[in-house]
Amino acid sequence: MEAVDNIETQLLTVNDVELAGTLLRVGDLVAIPTETVYGLGANGLAADAMDRIYEAKGRPSDNPLILHVCDQSMVHRLVQHITPLEQRLMDTFWPGPLTITFEKSALVPERATGGLSRVALRCPNHDVCREMIRIAGVPIAAPSANRSGRPSPTTAEAVLHDMKGRIHAIVDAGPCEIGVESTVVQVEDHTVIILRPGGVTKEMLEMVADHVIYDTALHDPTEAPKAPGMKYRHYAPDMPVQVLVGQSLTVAEYMKDIIDTIVQQEPMLQEDCKGKPRIGLLLSEETLENLNAVLPNFTLSVDIIVYGEQAEPISLANRLYDSLLQFNDVGVDTLIVEGCTPVGLGVAVMNRLEKASGGHVTLL
Ligand code: AMP
Ligand code: MG
Repeated sequence: MEAVDNIETQLLTVNDVELAGTLLRVGDLVAIPTETVYGLGANGLAADAMDRIYEAKGRPSDNPLILHVCDQSMVHRLVQHITPLEQRLMDTFWPGPLTITFEKSALVPERATGGLSRVALRCPNHDVCREMIRIAGVPIAAPSANRSGRPSPTTAEAVLHDMKGRIHAIVDAGPCEIGVESTVVQVEDHTVIILRPGGVTKEMLEMVADHVIYDTALHDPTEAPKAPGMKYRHYAPDMPVQVLVGQSLTVAEYMKDIIDTIVQQEPMLQEDCKGKPRIGLLLSEETLENLNAVLPNFTLSVDIIVYGEQAEPISLANRLYDSLLQFNDVGVDTLIVEGCTPVGLGVAVMNRLEKASGGHVTLL
């Protein structure tokens, strides 16, 4: 096996799906576009290829992988049985950002499931991705294509930043459409349990299932999560993050107070316009307007990114990871992020922000 940081990484385009599919089949690591985030793909039936995923990402070995299929016909040989409710979920939400765990068949290596008896499957809503899987002819294991713990990549450039020299190829298909990962569910009797919130919301699942609940571990840190990955710190940029949730005006005033306090402690910040920004603010359009009203003279020590509209959590989801990575590039010392109401896709956004901040969330 090549050294994991000494591989020549080929940059491929959507015209190279034949090559990408073939590389995947023979056991290479290929970063693949999906509608959620870029995945780090490898042959999901080959334990040694999946070993390379763990090595390249630095991923904890008990955190299982999602296997991606090109259509439902690929599912049957990977699972022991499919219940009517699981079938309805696939019929309704595939291709799309819903991952379902099933009792695995003997064909699925334990390396894919972290030793669990269940395997997580998803069919992505991305033509190029499904075509690559079809050409590979095997399910493709693909966690997010970032170093473990860091924000997930939603562009090929972000993949390259983390993975250059560690993987064989990247297929660049432009920015991802959704921007946060899939929803992971497990069906128990007639209940759908959400193990990780994501692109398919609880409200959407309730259209096909009578009982939809969240895994209790999502709200209770003393419980062991059913999705092992949920226990790890994730999505974190390089600097400490504080998340604020509340009415836009209240968030703006709170941000102003924090800035005032920091500037008072370090008056140089006000003058040193050439210095790098020290405080990052990630906020909504609504809150920027309110902040402009309460704090008309911004010091250049504050770096601001507007990541969407508070009223439209999908816009926040879309730009969340890319914005966090931009703050890494700028190199702010501390980052204050406006969260959102945990409704619809806002549940996934808040779940990622809780992880990114290590639970440092203030409800205003
Ligand atoms: P990622 O691939 O980084 O988006 O993470 C995949 C998520 O799915 C992690 O939280 C895993 O713990 C979870 N997952 C994968 N396979 C299983 C499984 N068999 N049972 C429960 N959770 C799983
Ligand atoms: Mg991930």
